[in-house]
Amino acid sequence: MDALPQALDGDELESTDPATGAIVGCVRMTTAEGLDAMVGRAWHAFHHSGWKSLLPHRRALVLQAIADRLAAEKEALATLQMRDNGKPLAECRGMVESAIGTFRYYAGVCETLETDVTPSRGDYVSFTVLEPFGVVACITPWNSPIMNDATKVAPALAAGNAVLLKPSEDSPLLAPELARIAREAGLPDGMLQVVQGRGAEIGAALVAHPGVRMISFTGGTATGRAIGRVAGDRLVPVALELGGKSPHVVFADAEIEHAVAAVVAGIFGSAGQSCVAGSRLFIEASLYDEVLARVVERTRALRVAAPDAPGVEMGPLASFHHRERVIRFVDRAREEGGRILCGGSAPEGEGYAKGAYYLPTVIDGLPPEALTCQEEAFGPVLVALPFRDEADLIAQANGTAFGLACGIWTESFKRAWRVGRALEAGSVWINTYKQSVTTTPFGGFKNSGIGREKGIDGLRLYAQVKSMYFGLHETPMLVAR
Ligand code: NAD
Repeated sequence: MDALPQALDGDELESTDPATGAIVGCVRMTTAEGLDAMVGRAWHAFHHSGWKSLLPHRRALVLQAIADRLAAEKEALATLQMRDNGKPLAECRGMVESAIGTFRYYAGVCETLETDVTPSRGDYVSFTVLEPFGVVACITPWNSPIMNDATKVAPALAAGNAVLLKPSEDSPLLAPELARIAREAGLPDGMLQVVQGRGAEIGAALVAHPGVRMISFTGGTATGRAIGRVAGDRLVPVALELGGKSPHVVFADAEIEHAVAAVVAGIFGSAGQSCVAGSRLFIEASLYDEVLARVVERTRALRVAAPDAPGVEMGPLASFHHRERVIRFVDRAREEGGRILCGGSAPEGEGYAKGAYYLPTVIDGLPPEALTCQEEAFGPVLVALPFRDEADLIAQANGTAFGLACGIWTESFKRAWRVGRALEAGSVWINTYKQSVTTTPFGGFKNSGIGREKGIDGLRLYAQVKSMYFGLHETPMLVAR
């Protein structure tokens, strides 16, 4: 665990394994005084550690060394994440791999960080340089801790900033491991520190802290809005990656077997606890009954089991209190007139008794304006809706406040292009779903966020642009020219 003074005698925060209810570990919560000390230490590191003035290729060496160490500890980190939040081990391994790839990618980007030079116009030449903000706050949710942490920390460090990383109180164990690994890989002391504790307390204090010059947040839309208000007041830049209610669309001309498999994987992977979960299934009316029946059949066959069980496809939800939220969501769908086609309860049986399990659930019969068709469940709940034609689909699919992602299954290239351009979403997947690569920007339209992570855009979030002009005048400057 992180040996930095991340808290001055704060209370303990426990992490519970949602598969068994056992305590996995605990961390100390950061106090307000502890936060002040950490911000001071971060500024000291920023000014005096030499990190920001290192030649980019030297910074890149450290980022590569972090990736190497993450790779060396992959199995232990994946196992810790599995116990910290209940995702199947195979998914957790994939998330560590994603974190490794992110550090490698930004090491590469860092090496090519260049100054733009505007050629001399005779009397001046100008340079545009990217500079770090100084101390930035990176706030992450509980659903994919190591991956979400890396997506923020790697580009923030690559750009030369000192980072205060605040993981969720529901998955506090991975961030200190990342900070330890970074230190062991040669990152100067104080350049990456972990703030622990509850969002409404220390998270809010971090966002409001005058020493924090930029905020990068991933989490729920309501929290993002609250953080945006504070950032607006303080006039500090903010990047927001928020929730979604992503439409997954099956046209009648689709390759149905592939579409059905992707629809089920797109919502029930990570037990639906993914911002891009395809949680609204739109099926062209002529094939509605047939496709829905196949989706339900495949959902019923999913293997719900302990996250390290052989062949597991869905583990428990990340916490017992999150399962309560999902139960309330499905209750509300019933009240709104939804028909539960499968799931709708916790699984029965001894193996499930101690864990926060919930069955993968498919619901239909809801009107598109029902709250449960509009709001994010962030759990294994799929609502199915028919559509008549493209215009009807586009109106329904765009009819929520969100705009994170969407999936389209059709064999018609022209339709895919047309519909993909018309849907309000930051990522459009055509005949595939949930693909994500470090090189490609990711983020939301509408209430799903502001800004783009990953790719070059992901690094620019953490840099401010400075333009410098050098005069080359042979004669004194005149007032009017
Ligand atoms: P959350 O908003 O409750 O918490 C996210 C983080 O913010 C946590 O670290 C929390 O402690 C902190 N926080 C809470 N209140 C705060 C405040 N007032 N000030 C500062 N920090 C505060 O979200 P969650 O329940 O942890 O995560 C689930 C949500 O995250 C879902 O809505 C999901 O869609 C979203 N998410 C989005 C993406 C994306 O890339 N768009 C990725 C993953 C998750």
